[in-house]
Amino acid sequence: MKYLLVMLVVAIAIGIWRGKRRVHGASSTSARPSTALNKPQSMVECAYCGLHLPQADAVTDAQGTQGRFYCSAEHRSLATQDPTGR
Ligand SMILES: [Zn+2]
Repeated sequence: MKYLLVMLVVAIAIGIWRGKRRVHGASSTSARPSTALNKPQSMVECAYCGLHLPQADAVTDAQGTQGRFYCSAEHRSLATQDPTGR
């Protein structure tokens, strides 16, 4: 009768151990690293100097209606202030 009790305790312990292990494995596999860096970025050209840069880093022409992109706010102001030269 003693062995039956021991086997019952061991069976419960194994069941708890397996349950914990399953939960732990599911949590570890669900955490995947994001692949944001693998996304293709659209490249735009600076309307002032012709430099190619990602559209996320580009400065858009807020005042004008051409929808041009610039590599920096300085080039945007230069292009808008002095379009035809001195
Ligand atoms: Zn530029």
